[in-house]
Amino acid sequence: MLGGYTRKILRVNLTRRKTSIESLNEEIARKFVGGKGLGAKILYDSLKPSIDPLGPENLLIFVSGPLTATLAPTSARWAVVTKSPLTSIFLDCQVGGYFGVTMKRAGFDCIIVQGKANNPVYLWIHDENAEIIDAEDLWGKGCLKTEIILKKRLGENINVASIGPAGENLVRYACISVDKYRQAGRGGAGAVMGSKNLKAVAVQSAGYRIEYADAKGFREAAKKALRIIKENSFTPLRRKYGTPIWVAPVNEAALLPTRNFRTGVFEKADKISGENMRNKIFVKNGTCYNCIIQCWKYTHVESGKYKVDELAGPEYESIALLGSNCGVDSIEAVAHANLLCDDLGLDTISTGNTIAFAMECFEKGLLTKKDTDGLELKFGNADAEIETVKKIAYQQGLGNLLAEGVQRVSKKIGRGSEKFAMHVKGMEIPGYDPRGAFGMALAYATSDRGACHQRAWTVRAEIEGKLTPRYSTEGRAKFVKEVQDERALCFSLVLCDFAPLEVNHFVELLNKATGFSFTSEDYLETGERIWNLTRLFNVREGIARKDDILPPRFMEETLPDGVAKGQVITKKMLDEMLDEYYALRGWDENGIPTKEKLKKLELY
Ligand code: SF4
Repeated sequence: MLGGYTRKILRVNLTRRKTSIESLNEEIARKFVGGKGLGAKILYDSLKPSIDPLGPENLLIFVSGPLTATLAPTSARWAVVTKSPLTSIFLDCQVGGYFGVTMKRAGFDCIIVQGKANNPVYLWIHDENAEIIDAEDLWGKGCLKTEIILKKRLGENINVASIGPAGENLVRYACISVDKYRQAGRGGAGAVMGSKNLKAVAVQSAGYRIEYADAKGFREAAKKALRIIKENSFTPLRRKYGTPIWVAPVNEAALLPTRNFRTGVFEKADKISGENMRNKIFVKNGTCYNCIIQCWKYTHVESGKYKVDELAGPEYESIALLGSNCGVDSIEAVAHANLLCDDLGLDTISTGNTIAFAMECFEKGLLTKKDTDGLELKFGNADAEIETVKKIAYQQGLGNLLAEGVQRVSKKIGRGSEKFAMHVKGMEIPGYDPRGAFGMALAYATSDRGACHQRAWTVRAEIEGKLTPRYSTEGRAKFVKEVQDERALCFSLVLCDFAPLEVNHFVELLNKATGFSFTSEDYLETGERIWNLTRLFNVREGIARKDDILPPRFMEETLPDGVAKGQVITKKMLDEMLDEYYALRGWDENGIPTKEKLKKLELY
């Protein structure tokens, strides 16, 4: 018996307004596990190369893993997989909250949405079946309001994933908001949903009970994992401050993106730090399903122009990109902008990055007040930032241009702006300047969805001295490759990347739940298989070494301040790391997986 899975996939054809149920293929489950891996396999097999990500041919896949909704701690997680309209390559977003748990209890491992509805609709999943329902009355509404209406209509015990005006208007970095304050954030999954005229997915448990191959053994493994998380010395800090705990140390290490990555030191970082956020706007902790870490920070701003009734956030990345990277030093303003992004359905990282780029253009005279609809779009102007967020979501005025993301905007503006357009493969850079943590340079350059910090986060190992020598490329290729492979499988289980667990713990949980007999080596090889499959997807779209590159700013301008002053990642340094990385991966010098490697990974 294949435990851990519901073994059922819901397929939704919006063009034909039909739903059907398919069985999960056991062999595919064994080779690609779930979450990212299973989603990547379905996407690779189903899409023809070069299809328009915003066309009806694209798929939107909601996919859990064999550990989602189980007793394993941090098992709320699930993934959204699609072809990104921002990068035109593979995209997976890892999501927390409760939606994935309910999707599984509704009886489905996976929902595949294809086609395009004629008019706005939502999907209502209940009683192990699904209905496609007209949603004209919801179109135009924010994600928060949409969730409130659907709960009132369908029951408070449902979970909702929805898009806001940004997704409806096909902003290329629109997100899907889930359970109010969780997001499938990056790469424009919300625009894919909007292109299908799908406003929301509402799901209710049908009481499906997950069976385990070895129930007693699984309970023991889950207890052990829980004990390890409890005893981990970082857990109390994460619980107290959440991800914003990183603002101060990252700033001290000169890695905090500031004014469009011109420096890694923000002189007012203490105003947007985790400590200040706790002092000024924190209300209480919150959590995903079955997690004692409780890293959500509910916040509230009582009154004034940055009023926030309730928000679970901001997270570190939102603070870094909507805060320091735009020169904004008010935690209240950042929280307000964050809430707007959540409600309108925008990725905070790409939004902050794109606005920062526009601010630098404004400062350099490449954009004028005529272009900004009269806004003084200067670094530090929080009010202008907030107005711009709204303009982007509704594609009004300047927002019409910025909705395309940094890469496309810089191509339109030209006049040297490409030099400070901060993206990799079209995906805007997250909250760590790689000039002070060289592993991040390689991690960004080789990430399978464009600049991403989650595929291989080297920052802690570099600033805490576990990856030495500091300011060196030595050992980074091996480290990045190993973390990418390991995370590829963690994101397929799916467990939270904040869970301080080791490969042997994941293996034990996976085997006891499913009945597989993975060794640690099998686990890492499966992660490597998934990583190679997403590379194959991207290679099919034309990706090669030429695209594993960083923005010119990181390669030509040294960091001007702080402990990492004078550091830079030259093209030569990046090339050396890439040579080593491709060799370790068994890829050719152009970054293409070799036949031998693919045969070994059973991908050929
Ligand atoms: S650590 Fe945070 S994000 Fe991860 S499962 Fe727990 S509450 Fe959710």
